[in-house]
Amino acid sequence: MEKHVQQFVNDFMSRIEAKNPNEVEFIQAVREVAESVAGYILENPVMQNLKVLDRIAEPERVIMFRVPWLRDSGEIEINRGYRVQNNSALGPYKGGLRFHVSVNLSILKFLAFEQTFKNSLTTLPMGGGKGGSDFSSKGKSDNEVMRFCQSFATELSRHIGADVDVPAGDIGVGGREIGYMFGQYKRLRNEFTGAYTGKGLSFGGSLLRPEATGYGLCYFVREMLVTKGDSFAGKVVTVSGSGNVSQYAIEKATKLGAKVVTASDSSGYIYDSEGIDEQKLEYIKDLKNVFRGRISEYVERYPNAVFYAEERPWGVKCDIALPCATQNELDGGDAQKLVDGGCLCVGEGANMPSTPEAIAIFHANKVLFAPGKAANAGGVATSGLEMAQNSMRLSWSRDEVDEKLSQIMRDIHTTCCEYGTEADGYINYVNGANIGGFIKVANAMIAQGVV
Ligand code: NDP
Repeated sequence: MEKHVQQFVNDFMSRIEAKNPNEVEFIQAVREVAESVAGYILENPVMQNLKVLDRIAEPERVIMFRVPWLRDSGEIEINRGYRVQNNSALGPYKGGLRFHVSVNLSILKFLAFEQTFKNSLTTLPMGGGKGGSDFSSKGKSDNEVMRFCQSFATELSRHIGADVDVPAGDIGVGGREIGYMFGQYKRLRNEFTGAYTGKGLSFGGSLLRPEATGYGLCYFVREMLVTKGDSFAGKVVTVSGSGNVSQYAIEKATKLGAKVVTASDSSGYIYDSEGIDEQKLEYIKDLKNVFRGRISEYVERYPNAVFYAEERPWGVKCDIALPCATQNELDGGDAQKLVDGGCLCVGEGANMPSTPEAIAIFHANKVLFAPGKAANAGGVATSGLEMAQNSMRLSWSRDEVDEKLSQIMRDIHTTCCEYGTEADGYINYVNGANIGGFIKVANAMIAQGVV
């Protein structure tokens, strides 16, 4: 990086660090974007004079609230709820809700910041937001989850709406939780509008929304492989996580001819050398979505597989790695193992799963590396399609949605190539996604004045 560009990044990051002390994840996400777009900003002084990047890195609004709810036993529990409305230059705030014990303001600010660029890349009219709570549904009864969701949605209802802010799912928030929150919103407002996405099919949900993030990830990786004249066929793939994104990434990668050999959760990973075929994947879906079990139970059903407690799957030799669990789950040591094992492509299904050290190793070794804000944008893109269908009061067929999804992923790939191709032909997808996403938001902000 040239000296004056580095100086710009250093000055900008000192301001961000001073304003957001101890917000490690937020600072990490902002630094990555700043390093990508600094050169572009310095070439376009209007961006610098109007402090566009400083403004994007300051959420338009942060809402924090108490979420009291009752256990089945009658005991009172209190969680903390949040909604970070980061940027509305391109449309209503849009982004998921995460329910997980680790949730804090730094994590939600990083996710809302990333979401702003991701939503811009989709080309759909959506601003960036994110929210959630430090609540976990693990070990809770269905009624307890419902009471929590109703309490959370009651406060959130003051701040959202089909033209204001449209939440969706994320870690710990699937169809069940969205159903309860949508139901409570409808009851409070006495109106049936698309204030949430990820809804059930019978009440305004879109076909293919559950599959969209995992499928979109594979469509994006397919485009990356094409740049090398390659494909998924015959490739060995490692996947982390076993939730929504992982399940449909496994499904699509397998359909495209790959053999997926791992899945994980927060207690460890399973390795199945024969591959997780369609039948085994159905077992995982039931295990995780219906019985809410642990991935270790897979080896009881399929004894040829091995469970590695408290470990991550990145030591397993593979051609393609798809981290689909959570942020910072793949560090420098893991990246080196992947490179040493001959991994040629890493596509992020999760948000920011690779640490900066891991990304540097992938870039230094010319691994095809796609950051989450590009590769997992299929989820929010299909949420955007759900919003469009809700506004029009109609629903598109599965094939129509799938075609739109794969076109959007192809377009995002093209944008990344346009802004990220380096002199030697290597595509730096991190720069491509950050610059491509930034330009559209920045221009809209400039046109809308200092607001
Ligand atoms: P789910 O809750 O369905 O699944 C999350 C999976 O990740 C589970 O297997 C979970 O294991 C595991 N996991 C969660 N936290 C940790 C942790 N700290 N360490 C190890 N494993 C962990 O979530 P999603 O599949 O929806 O989301 C996964 C990732 O994809 C997130 O980063 C999310 O932000 C991102 N994403 C999701 C989109 C969507 O449409 N759902 C869209 C775009 C991005 P366990 O069961 O043990 O908790």
